[in-house]
Amino acid sequence: MKTLLKLSQIVTMDARRRVIAGGGLVVSGNVIESVLSANELRDLRFDGEVIEAGALVAIPGFIQTHIHLCQTLFRGLADDLELLDWLKLRIMPYEAAHTAQSLRASAMIGIAELLRSGTTTIMDMGTVHHEEEIIRAVAETGVRAFVGKAMMDVNELHPPLRESTKDAIRTTREYAEHAHGLANGRIRYAVAPRFILSCTDALMEEAYEMTQSFPGMLFHTHAAENKHEMTAVRSRCGMDNVEYFDRINILHQNTCLAHCIWLNDREVDLMAERDAKVLHCPSSNLKLGSGVARIPLLRAKGVTVSLGADGAPCNNTLNIFEEMRLAALIQKPGHGPTAMDAQSVFEMATLGGAATLGISNEVGSLEPGMKADLVLLDLNKAWNPYSPQSDSELYSSIVYSCSPENVDSVMVDGRWVFRGSQHLGIDEHKIVESAKNELRLLLPRVSG
Ligand SMILES: [Zn+2]
Repeated sequence: MKTLLKLSQIVTMDARRRVIAGGGLVVSGNVIESVLSANELRDLRFDGEVIEAGALVAIPGFIQTHIHLCQTLFRGLADDLELLDWLKLRIMPYEAAHTAQSLRASAMIGIAELLRSGTTTIMDMGTVHHEEEIIRAVAETGVRAFVGKAMMDVNELHPPLRESTKDAIRTTREYAEHAHGLANGRIRYAVAPRFILSCTDALMEEAYEMTQSFPGMLFHTHAAENKHEMTAVRSRCGMDNVEYFDRINILHQNTCLAHCIWLNDREVDLMAERDAKVLHCPSSNLKLGSGVARIPLLRAKGVTVSLGADGAPCNNTLNIFEEMRLAALIQKPGHGPTAMDAQSVFEMATLGGAATLGISNEVGSLEPGMKADLVLLDLNKAWNPYSPQSDSELYSSIVYSCSPENVDSVMVDGRWVFRGSQHLGIDEHKIVESAKNELRLLLPRVSG
């Protein structure tokens, strides 16, 4: 089955960063077969489904590399706290109260929000138990994902939410064997020790070692997020987060570190030397009062940076447009208005995400042979610019003006998951009702 999309513009993100006006995309199965200029489209003889989308702009599906689907249910229940209190008083007790049913409800509303706002690929950090529910929700809804249960073999913040090193490794291996490569490769695994303060050295080392026995597996954790966390890490390890990861030899090209706000200069260089990846979460960093990551410096040193909304309770949305806008804006007071221009930020949300996840040959751009993960935007809204859009105006419109209301349709792996502003395959009313019900049942189970 082939589909031809006729489009107003195609933002390809190919090596030449071509934006094609009046062109077309041919999707065959789950792959982009061809990207056509206006002239090529005029001459094309096509036998298949034709979608006339001449008012819409096609862009690569957005990639968010740091998400916690397990926390979506707790949106609005943990506001205005700093990281360690946020974890100790709210998030860890809530996560510990999850059942399989409540975790599924949390994952479903998270994925529904991500898809309808144009995010087609995520890297998720789950909680300690019931990871199978997140894998099932990802499989059913069609989002592309690296999944991984949170590993914690130390937990002074909320002791009930931990497991033995042996159990953390064993269950992770079981989930990894099941999920890595599932759904024709759409689902993959990233081992996810939560952060230094919840993991022994042995757990960190064994978790990293596991990535070596599965091709393409990633190592996903948090680092250098908060000043109090930094103090505790220094007192335990005698050094900072990234220095510690390097000392125990787990800082490599598949090491993906969320936040990286408080890196010292040596650590910035280490990130570049080891080709480790930064998962930048500007909304979360602002809302928890954590700080502003030195993204312009990291990028200037050649470090790959991507974007993520983090968990819904520290954001409180999973909306990539908000992350792009803030990623640009938060650097400007310190570095001037030309820092983090719109195109650079758009690249972080597409190509940067793909490079972070090691899947640049599959997603992040609209080119022949790439997976058909794409978003159709309607830029004919009152809040979008009105001029005929040049390439730079187009990036500006997407990064500075757009919101999820601009998302008309979303395709992942060749399948429409959102079309004409409606979910296909997700009954939004039903999952919202289920989420409300599961939260009502969960709250009495929470123990401080
Ligand atoms: Zn996080």
